[in-house]
Amino acid sequence: MTKPSLPEPFDVAVVGAGPGGSTAAATLAAGGARVALIDKASFPRDKACGDMIGPRGVALLRELGVDLRAPKRVVGDMLLVGPSGGRLPLPAESGDSYPGHGWLVSRRDFDNALFQHALSFGAEAVVARMSHVESERGGFSLKLDNGRRIQAKAVVGADGATTQVGRDLGMVEEGASLYGFAVRAYLEEEVPIPVISLFRHQGTLFPGYGWIFADVEGVANFGVGVGVFADRKRASLATQSLPHYLELLKRQGWLSAKARPARRLGGWLKMGGLGVEAARGTALLVGDAAGLVNPLQGEGIHAAMDSGLAAARALLGVGEPAQVYLAHLRMTHLPFAQTASALQRIALSHPRLAEAGIRALTSRYAPEVVGSAWGLYWNDLLRGAGRVRGATLARAMATAFDAFTRTAPERRG
Ligand SMILES: Cc1cc2nc3c(=O)[nH]c(=O)nc-3n(C[C@H](O)[C@H](O)[C@H](O)COP(=O)(O)OP(=O)(O)OC[C@H]3O[C@@H](n4cnc5c(N)ncnc54)[C@H](O)[C@@H]3O)c2cc1C
Repeated sequence: MTKPSLPEPFDVAVVGAGPGGSTAAATLAAGGARVALIDKASFPRDKACGDMIGPRGVALLRELGVDLRAPKRVVGDMLLVGPSGGRLPLPAESGDSYPGHGWLVSRRDFDNALFQHALSFGAEAVVARMSHVESERGGFSLKLDNGRRIQAKAVVGADGATTQVGRDLGMVEEGASLYGFAVRAYLEEEVPIPVISLFRHQGTLFPGYGWIFADVEGVANFGVGVGVFADRKRASLATQSLPHYLELLKRQGWLSAKARPARRLGGWLKMGGLGVEAARGTALLVGDAAGLVNPLQGEGIHAAMDSGLAAARALLGVGEPAQVYLAHLRMTHLPFAQTASALQRIALSHPRLAEAGIRALTSRYAPEVVGSAWGLYWNDLLRGAGRVRGATLARAMATAFDAFTRTAPERRG
C-alpha cells in the first residue's frame, strides 16, 4: 500500500546530498525555505573520487563557513608526467580570489561535513531513493522508493552524472552528453606530491589519465579516468587499465613494489555542460547532474558547490529562477567548459597529435612558466587569478584555444 504524502509541500526538494545538493540545501534553508534533502545513502557514505578539493573549492568552503574538521592534507605544487617519463612541475600560487593550495580529504568525511552543514541550517534529511519526479500543479511530485511522496514548489537535481531528475523531466539528451568514467583505489603508502600521468596503453596514448595523489595520514588515493564521449559502454577501459597504471607507478618509483590497492570504487563524470538543459522553470540541475565536470582534468567538486549556491540564490531571489541560474552558468562555467570539451574531443580523436603536445609540455626544454600557465589554464583558474606567474601566457593559451575551437559543435550551446 502506498504511504501518504508528507503533510505540507516543501518549498524545495533537493535530490542528492553530495557537494552540490548539500550546498544548495544549506543556502536555501539559511534563506528561510523549507527544504527536503533527499539521498538514497545515509551519511557518512563513500564516493568514488580523487579526494582533491582545488583552490577555488577551498576558497568557497571558507566563504560558506563550512566546519571541515576531517583529517586533510594541504597540497600545493603538482607534477604532470608524460608518456616518456618527462615531468612538468605545475606550481601553485595564490590568485586574487583563491589560495595557492588545495586540500586532500576523503569524500566520506568531506561530504558528511557539507551534509551536516545543511542540516544545521534546518534542511530536513530524507533517506530514500527518489524513483520518479514529475511536474504537478505548478510544482513537483517526487516518488520515493519507500512508498512516500514529496510535494515541492521547486526541485534541485543534485543527483550526480546519471541524474534521475534530469532524465524524468526531459532535461538530458544522452547522445549529446560528454561522459567520462574513473576508478580509484586507496593504498597504504606515503606519497610526497600529487602526480598526474599521461601514459601509453596498448600502443597508443591512453584516452584519459592516471593520478596518484599525496597521502593523507599514510593513505594515498590513486586512479585512472577515461573519456568515453556519449558511449558509456567503454567505461570498462578505466577498470582494465588500473593494474597497468599501478605497475607503471611502481616502475617509475612513485610507489613501492609492495603497494597493494584496496577499496576500489568507480563512478561517472559528466563534463562540459553538454547534453543538458540545466534549468527549466523551477527545476534546476547542479553539479554533475548539470554536467559541470572539467573536461580536461575531471575536477567537479568546486563547480558542484558553486552551482548549488547559485541555484539556491536563484530560487530565493527575485527574477525568474531558470534565467537567473542559466545566466550564472553562462558567465562562470560554460565558456571554459565548452572550449575544453572541444579540446578533449580533438585530443581523444587525434592521439598522435595529443601525444606530441604532451611530449612538448613535459620535455626538459619546456620553460618553467609553461607549467605555471598550463596549471592555470586546465584548472580553469584564470578568472580571479590576477597577476600570478604564468597568467599572461595562460591568457594567450586561452585566446588561442578559443579561436581554434570557435566553430566546434561544443561551442554552439
Ligand atoms: C573516480 C573519480 C574521481 C574524481 N576525482 C575528483 C577530484 O579529485 N576532485 C574533484 O573536484 N572532482 C573529482 N571527481 C568529480 C566529483 O566527484 C564530482 O564532480 C562531484 O562529486 C559532484 O558533486 P555532486 O554533488 O554534483 O554529485 P555527487 O557527489 O555524485 O552526489 C550525488 C548524490 O546523489 C545521490 N543520489 C543519486 N541518485 C539518487 C536518487 N535517485 N535518489 C536519491 N539520491 C540519489 C547519491 O547517493 C549522491 O550522494 C571525481 C569523480 C570520479 C568518479
